[in-house]
Amino acid sequence: MRLFLGLLFRNRLAAVGAVVLAAILLFVLAIPVLPLADPNITETGKRFLLPFGEGHWLGTDHLGRDLLSRLLHGTRLSLAVGFAAAFVAATIGSAIGIVAGYFGGLVDNIVMRGVDMLMAFPYILLALAIVAALGPGLMNALVAVAAVNIPFFARNIRGVTVSLAHREFIDAARLSGMGHGRILASELLPNVLPVIVIAMSTTIGWMILETAGLSFLGLGSQPPQADLGSMLGEARAALITSPHTSVVPGVMIFLIVMSINLLGDGIRDALDPRLRSGALDRPAAMTRIDRRSPPPGAPAAPPLLALQDLQTRFHVGKRVYKAVNEVSLHLAKGECLGLVGESGSGKSVTALSVMGLVASPPGVITGGAVRLDGEDVLGFSRSRLRSARGDRVAYIFQDPLGTLHPLHTIENQLVEAIRAHRSVPHAEARARALELLDAVRIPNAGARLPAYPHELSGGMRQRVGIAMALANDPDIIIADEPTTALDVTVQAQILALLDELRRERGLAIVFITHDFGVVAQLCDRVAVMYAGRIVEEGPTAAVLATPAHPYTRRLIACVPELGEGRRELAAIAGLPPVVDRLPDGCAFAPRCDKAADACRRGEIRLAGEGTRRVRCIHPEHPEETV
Ligand code: ADP
Ligand code: MG
Repeated sequence: MRLFLGLLFRNRLAAVGAVVLAAILLFVLAIPVLPLADPNITETGKRFLLPFGEGHWLGTDHLGRDLLSRLLHGTRLSLAVGFAAAFVAATIGSAIGIVAGYFGGLVDNIVMRGVDMLMAFPYILLALAIVAALGPGLMNALVAVAAVNIPFFARNIRGVTVSLAHREFIDAARLSGMGHGRILASELLPNVLPVIVIAMSTTIGWMILETAGLSFLGLGSQPPQADLGSMLGEARAALITSPHTSVVPGVMIFLIVMSINLLGDGIRDALDPRLRSGALDRPAAMTRIDRRSPPPGAPAAPPLLALQDLQTRFHVGKRVYKAVNEVSLHLAKGECLGLVGESGSGKSVTALSVMGLVASPPGVITGGAVRLDGEDVLGFSRSRLRSARGDRVAYIFQDPLGTLHPLHTIENQLVEAIRAHRSVPHAEARARALELLDAVRIPNAGARLPAYPHELSGGMRQRVGIAMALANDPDIIIADEPTTALDVTVQAQILALLDELRRERGLAIVFITHDFGVVAQLCDRVAVMYAGRIVEEGPTAAVLATPAHPYTRRLIACVPELGEGRRELAAIAGLPPVVDRLPDGCAFAPRCDKAADACRRGEIRLAGEGTRRVRCIHPEHPEETV
């Protein structure tokens, strides 16, 4: 709740809406204790008094009634009717929606066709018809407004319910023997409640307007009772001669509807978990770069790619997640560097930071440099960065089904990837696409070109993903867990393919994985990442034979080996730390069996000589390693 209110009030407009609405509510609730004139006492001698006159702050209307008093009473009535109508519509509409969505089939059909019929009538006409049938009066106006809004809720909630009704937790509830009633009430309702609240908060304003509209036409509140709509209606005749009689209720309607809508939007944003995490913010085309200190100078003989003290953070609310914390890596031409670590250790964010692909907001690169042939990529202009993406550095991701466009053929996607960087005729691009499919060993490539991604198997799709990455002959391929989603035999084929391509084309590869087995097959060097930092680095064979960091040793111990007999696979107990509250000293200390007091204090440097480096004050000794 605190979090919700915090989020709500961070939205300035919602806060303004809340304050205005609260002020109005306060006045309305204070009516019994305010020294107001009777709203219905007419005094014909004092007709159309102007505002700020003696005894009548807002003046009087055509019958000499005190406008301030009528305004407050009218506001109270309009708000009450509007809220009541919204509540009734939300309750009935949501009940219909949940039942229809949950039971589906015939029930759904019958109920929703009824709702469709209601929706087929023009909105206001339906309200007028209902009031005409029931007779004018505020209560009937309420019924009419609620009735015409039921379909809106029913449709919305049905949609949400349908998507929930087939989820595993509902099946689980059913399997546990719960009846329909209990499932509806205890499993579904809590999940759709936020949607109901959102729909309500964004429609109350409308319903107040609609009620006012009916009253304006004389179908709602009956004289002498004041509501905002009837005040406007009565003031219409004197619009030119005494405009204040119209302006007063008009401004009030405006304030109420505006404040409710602003607040409603704020509530919607604060309740939607996707908006809350910033996932629906449209991220910029390039990660925000906000380096506090100047980037470090280029090394004398720059390698193909060098990350120098790279820092990438996520700012979510007040929290700062240090996803990449002073990471330094280098990659030579034709080399394959493995980046290993548990899920959440910052591998993907490191990879995405290289080409400024981390979504901002919430991501920010706060320090360091990424040097491509010695040039600082983070200082590139937008257009230069865009031309380098895919052309010099290409990516392969874990899930090709997610990265390939579902509605375009393989051919179109490959051609598009090629033509994004070179203006070649379509036929030439197509020929190149064919070559690429051959290069990634897709049999009968010509027949595959017109296929859609869903028509290919997982391994084939990943081959297409690799072909896309190769489209512009990049110098570097960054492969982010490209084989994690594949089964073991396909994984072996893809690894063999990457290895061949690397040798044929002199590609440099950054291979991200959580699996040391894969690293052993493919990589020349390996860097181990934990909680956003590199904890060990060195040639693969050396690291595998004599891991120096306890974390590395335990990661290696997690890899099963065939024919090795029964060995206990040692999972690492505990969880990686959340990177917004890193412990002092070594982040692995809480899970490390060798941790001493000194490990929990101060900065531990990445130290070592030659090509081996380790960030540990009690590194493993070769004779101890398993
Ligand atoms: P992995 O090593 O599994 O690829 P990631 O690089 O994806 O890990 O994530 C590193 C850290 O960054 C994680 O702790 C994750 O919580 C955090 N993180 C990633 N993306 C976001 C985001 N959009 N907002 C906040 N935190 C994020
Ligand atoms: Mg990842």
